[in-house]
Amino acid sequence: MIDAERFLDDLRTLRTFGATGTGVVRPSFSDVDMAARRWLHGRYADAGLDASIDGIGNVFGRSPNPGPALLIGSHSDTQPTGGWLDGAYGVIVGLEVARAIRENPDTADLAVDAVAWVDEESTYVSCLGSRSFCGLVDPVELEGAASPDGHSLADALAGADLSGEPDRWSDREYAGFLEAHIEQGPALEASGDLLGVVTAIVGARTLILRFAGQQNHAGTTPMRLRRDAGRAAIHFGHAIDQRFGELTGDRTVWTIGDIRFEPGASSIIPGRAELTLQFRDPDGDLLERFEQEVRRIATDIADATAVDITIEPDGRAIEPAAMDQRLHDALAAAAEAEAPGHWTSMPSAAVHDAMFLADRMPAGMLFVPSIGGISHDFAEDTTDDDLVRGVRTMAAAAVELAQRSMGSGLT
Ligand SMILES: [Zn+2]
Repeated sequence: MIDAERFLDDLRTLRTFGATGTGVVRPSFSDVDMAARRWLHGRYADAGLDASIDGIGNVFGRSPNPGPALLIGSHSDTQPTGGWLDGAYGVIVGLEVARAIRENPDTADLAVDAVAWVDEESTYVSCLGSRSFCGLVDPVELEGAASPDGHSLADALAGADLSGEPDRWSDREYAGFLEAHIEQGPALEASGDLLGVVTAIVGARTLILRFAGQQNHAGTTPMRLRRDAGRAAIHFGHAIDQRFGELTGDRTVWTIGDIRFEPGASSIIPGRAELTLQFRDPDGDLLERFEQEVRRIATDIADATAVDITIEPDGRAIEPAAMDQRLHDALAAAAEAEAPGHWTSMPSAAVHDAMFLADRMPAGMLFVPSIGGISHDFAEDTTDDDLVRGVRTMAAAAVELAQRSMGSGLT
């Protein structure tokens, strides 16, 4: 059913839009991103799909068959210096599966749509396309949105000739959303599994901690009289490592990604310090527990050091998103057929568009291995065999699910 050469050719063609060495630089709404979107529009149309680019930049290839439709895709924008498969893989999987289903007389009556979301990688607003489609963007978030180099989202949309009005999930009846993606981590390679069927996408919380003490002379101020904001911050980091280590689940990760002292000189006791702490887990209760621990530890350290500590969230908390059990099971059955005994169920440690689609319809995800576990880097790669195994698995699951939804209504 799947044409592996055609699939790999399209994937390599998408790579040429913004190709830089072995990587790709295709940030949302850039000229190359929009050129890639117009190319995808053409490929959807060539496949007999009803192709359109909505007002926020999402590209759809809709089956002319009535719904409930199964929607398959991912994002076609990249990180500032991205790999060639992150997002692109799932987009071309959606194209090939929708196309193959359409041209096979046995499945041509199924409603399978393809999509390429915009700005998953947060050049302007994280997961802008999929969240807009789902009605999950706060208009206030869009008002001040700008790229890291200072271009406003409004200018970017105008420059790309886009109205800003997205298509909506409620415009058509959907049976579910499927997304194929490279794993972007080392778990599949380490276990020797060839496919990963996602159970849940991890949630994340990021906190900013500010420490306010007393700036003073590093030679003349006795240790017992100091209110050293830098030292309090370091104590905090150490205490977090110990305590999170005791509470941790299988998949918990935490990162102090930034730390700063003021004024930042070797002969001055820091009067102020600031750090960011981010933690991720597929279990929402555990995330809540971690946040409580952060507050408790901060209170203890503030008491012990006479340094004031304030905590505030950095951006929205991202709640974990469970994948739909029936979609998971259909992907699992297809994975078992394609790679008997060599697939696994696993959570996703990275955010994906499917996380937001899961709010509006049943959602499922399939992972293929990342060589060396590397992603968000020019070195990102996956073998052709693994890429093709993924698209075959997705096609088998999509046929099964679309047939079921036609028969009984998969809601
Ligand atoms: Zn991605």
